[in-house]
Amino acid sequence: MNPAEIPQVATPVIAIDGTAASGKGTVARRVAEALGFDHLDTGALYRAVGLAVLRSGGDPGDAAAAARAAQSLRPGDIGGLIGDPALRSETTGSAASKVAVVPAVREALLDFQRGFAGHPPRGRGAVLDGRDIGTVVCPDAAAKLFVTADVEVRAERRLKELLGRGAPAIYAAVLEDMRERDARDSQRAVAPLRPAADAFLLDTSSLDADQAFEAAMSFIRTKAGIG
Ligand code: C5P
Repeated sequence: MNPAEIPQVATPVIAIDGTAASGKGTVARRVAEALGFDHLDTGALYRAVGLAVLRSGGDPGDAAAAARAAQSLRPGDIGGLIGDPALRSETTGSAASKVAVVPAVREALLDFQRGFAGHPPRGRGAVLDGRDIGTVVCPDAAAKLFVTADVEVRAERRLKELLGRGAPAIYAAVLEDMRERDARDSQRAVAPLRPAADAFLLDTSSLDADQAFEAAMSFIRTKAGIG
């Protein structure tokens, strides 16, 4: 058979969406590792745009500045930022959720996310985590999960993580920020945070990381027949 006639088999995509500090990133990393798939933390893309606006002295609420930053972001820039602690700060997280409401920002990041999902670097499959993977970026994903937990539990987890990194933080402020971010992510007009109709809802309020991972894998095995 002529190589051009060999049908291209699409590699599987696992979509993991959910709220901030729900544990979705940890579940996504572990699922990718267990399956030998590549993992993309799509929140890092929005964080990179938010951080670029902050570093240029701009206002993340300024739609034009946010769109310019997203359009000039190159895939290589993300790699360079991954180890930068500023990418993980609460200020950057909040800036990310502001730039994420701008349709031109979402549009600029869409191709990169779909390219990664369709052609993961190692060619076996991809796990993408974010807010709109199952609803917008990869609506045909082989398995979709929506991870959440009570807001107080998530604020506790984020507080622990910040204090663990030596960042100054107090519970009331973290909780307030978490509530604001949930509201902004769920109420925006474009690609709001919501579970896809066919997503498996995983509430991690009373689960540890191992239990959340096992529950995710068991759904993926049943739904997509992988793992
Ligand atoms: O997941 P993380 O907290 O790093 O994401 C930062 C912000 O980026 C989120 O609060 C959300 O506003 C935005 N985001 C998004 N769509 C995604 C991933 C993240 O809007 N797929």
